[in-house]
Amino acid sequence: MSNESDFAHARRVLPGGVSSPVRAFRSVGGTPRMLRSARGAYVTDADGVERVDLVASWGPALLGHAHPEVVAAVQEAAARGLSFGAPTVAEAELADAVIARVPFVEKLRLVSTGTEATMTAVRLARGVTGRPLVIKMAGCYHGHLDALLAQAGSGVANQALPGSAGVTEATAAETIVVPYDDVAAVAAAFDAHPGRVAAVIVEAAPANMGVVEPAPGYNAALRRLCSQHGALLVLDEVLTGFRVSGAGWWGLEGRREGWEPDLVTFGKVIGGGMPVAAVGGRASVMDHLAPLGPVYQAGTLSGNPVAVAAGLATLRLADAAVYAHVDRVSRVVSDAVSAALDAEGVAHSVQRAGSLFSVAFGSWGPSADGSRADASGASAFAADASVADASVAGASGTGAHRPDVPAGPRNYAQVQAQEAWRFPPFFHAM
Ligand code: PMP
Repeated sequence: MSNESDFAHARRVLPGGVSSPVRAFRSVGGTPRMLRSARGAYVTDADGVERVDLVASWGPALLGHAHPEVVAAVQEAAARGLSFGAPTVAEAELADAVIARVPFVEKLRLVSTGTEATMTAVRLARGVTGRPLVIKMAGCYHGHLDALLAQAGSGVANQALPGSAGVTEATAAETIVVPYDDVAAVAAAFDAHPGRVAAVIVEAAPANMGVVEPAPGYNAALRRLCSQHGALLVLDEVLTGFRVSGAGWWGLEGRREGWEPDLVTFGKVIGGGMPVAAVGGRASVMDHLAPLGPVYQAGTLSGNPVAVAAGLATLRLADAAVYAHVDRVSRVVSDAVSAALDAEGVAHSVQRAGSLFSVAFGSWGPSADGSRADASGASAFAADASVADASVAGASGTGAHRPDVPAGPRNYAQVQAQEAWRFPPFFHAM
């Protein structure tokens, strides 16, 4: 048993050796760590090497891995039966826990993945409004549903894939993609399709094209436009929910500014590492879902008792002290990464939104002669994200805090303008 031999085995029987593409290390090369176990902040791979884990299951492991109280809750639930196909009170308790933290949510529908949550939100918005179109922002990722794969971030972005084969033109035509951070483009899309836009969906704070902190007032402007045009605002908090604060990104921004979305999607932390996700909102919107309303949605394993137990235990443990700690640790790690890159002369910028951060390599703007930006540190990106070979010709040793380096990319076009595109254009820690 080793990373090499286990991955060779996996590659024979799983496409790319993985169950989700970003795990395959395709964009960085080398053999993925085939993980065997994890505890706290550490993961152990098939070579027996223990490492600090900056991936955290891409978000869910807010409390670290195998928290004893979460594991105990899961074991107790598992001993009572794995799945019933009948309602349980724990589902209502998880909804209570969400509503207590995110008060604009009056009702919640539990599903198993973030993709199902956004898919349900889109169908619900179409069902409620009777309209066909959805506006999304380039570089925002909302899962792998056909309607929202166009110009998505995440693996679609950092593996340089154009989108996805298998999505029909008819489906793609019902999604209007506008640049992130561009309120006028959203207004123009509404004007171009009067009475036909069901929803605007946006990552509460984008983290799938690198981290982009929303410009002040951006989300609030989306809220206003949706209200003006009778469309629903769907705030995707699959990644940020219960992660950047107890009330997600909305808790850091919407609550203070006094706006609320019509629908919100959660995933990742809400399941504490088990498959739980959810869509929530006002009762008057949520009650359009079956069995009360005409919008159909269902799931054999939705609200699974073992998964819900993990989510409930995680939310109960995630108090203010946890978020203060995560904020602190995020600073320490991102400062350390930045200092290491500076020491090796790698041009980069650190982008933050709450406790999320990413590192954009190189400069991203067009160079003076109009060609793409120089590669700077990007080609030094090795499979283990080490900066050991960072002595790249032309690297200027400039960090975001230096006046001669522009702030990092703020939209998908700028992300793509990085010469680094063959390499991961960003590195983010969850
Ligand atoms: N929305 C956002 C903002 C996400 O980051 C993700 C996953 N990274 C999803 C939706 C999809 O969630 P899942 O992978 O659980 O389907």
